[in-house]
Amino acid sequence: MDVPSLQVKSSKHTYPIIVRPGCRTSLYDYLVQYLDGASRYFLITDDQVASLYLEEIESSFPNSEKIKSYILPSGEQSKSMNQYEKAITAALEFKLDRKSVIIAVGGGVVGDLGGFVASTYMRGIRYVQVPTTLLAHDSSVGGKVGINHPLGKNMIGSFHPPSLVLYDPECLLSLPPKEWRSGFAEVIKHGFIADREFLKWLTEEISSFDQVDMALLTEMLIRSIKVKAKIVQEDEQESGIRAFLNFGHTLGHAIEGEMGYGKLTHGEAVAIGMKFALRLSERYFQTKLDYEPYLSVMEKLGYELDIPHNLNVEQLIHRMKLDKKSYNQVINFVLLEQIGKATLVEIKEEILIDELTGKVG
Ligand code: NAD
Ligand code: MG
Repeated sequence: MDVPSLQVKSSKHTYPIIVRPGCRTSLYDYLVQYLDGASRYFLITDDQVASLYLEEIESSFPNSEKIKSYILPSGEQSKSMNQYEKAITAALEFKLDRKSVIIAVGGGVVGDLGGFVASTYMRGIRYVQVPTTLLAHDSSVGGKVGINHPLGKNMIGSFHPPSLVLYDPECLLSLPPKEWRSGFAEVIKHGFIADREFLKWLTEEISSFDQVDMALLTEMLIRSIKVKAKIVQEDEQESGIRAFLNFGHTLGHAIEGEMGYGKLTHGEAVAIGMKFALRLSERYFQTKLDYEPYLSVMEKLGYELDIPHNLNVEQLIHRMKLDKKSYNQVINFVLLEQIGKATLVEIKEEILIDELTGKVG
């Protein structure tokens, strides 16, 4: 059948990523081709995705007794201990065994929860990522899976790489513009940190999220995933360069937290963080990065790139000190030496205050 779009090496195994318009309707054939001897399939999805795509996917299975679908409420609150336990219970009741396979069909929420169920069920079984959001081109690759704790996001989790990623870009056509923006910020990020040519191509080719050409979308996804895949292959457990994927996220997370989750999407907050990090990069490296053309494309795509008014500088800094890249009150930022070349740098609090002051109302 298809040749994989790319292969990702992990410490456990190498897994194929297939990006192909329409592949959801022959999902079963791909499973047979790429996964040996699966006894049963447990498909996890959310109610929104189910209403759009579940019937088509289920009907690709010749034997309905081998598959059970489990539907979560859509939204971040499903990445919870409660939903995790319920899913495990349903998996046990369906008598999944160690040769069974979990199929996570949805955005990052379903992928993270489904992957975490797979990583812990009977000490770990295989799973397949079937991303249906643009953001999930990021979350489905790299093997980080997990759920939230009431005291913090993604606080419970593990590294458990998928056995296959099967991405149907046609699914993205039903996403609302806000979700496009959320995922597209991570696409742009991949260009900024590692692939200037890709960034140029992207900002020349994509000027609207309406009627994106399927071939173009497929190419975009593959090129963006390649950046992420290369980084996680080199640093699976995030002891070094995987931190570059956090470009724009130090301030982005702080803004998300301060605004209250849900007001801005993750990518919209990261976009603000990227503009800030670009400015900081120019100051730190005493250089011109000529990033304005990229930001102006982002603005045309509907991003608000300035820090929202009325956010408190001290609070933002306090949150940045809690960032996973910060130790002993020192704030580390991913900055760009050049467009396409990231590095991790310690930034003094005074500089951050100076940069943030006047930018926040
Ligand atoms: P999501 O899964 O909540 O999806 C966003 C919304 O879009 C949901 O309401 C969903 O029902 C809906 N949806 C999904 N597919 C659709 C489609 N094709 N058409 C219409 N609507 C659709 O959120 P997300 O933005 O995909 O992912 C965010 C999550 O990903 C966060 O929990 C984040 O922590 C996680 N994440 C994980 C990693 C990782 O490496 N594991 C990386 C980045 C983000
Ligand atoms: Mg992110």
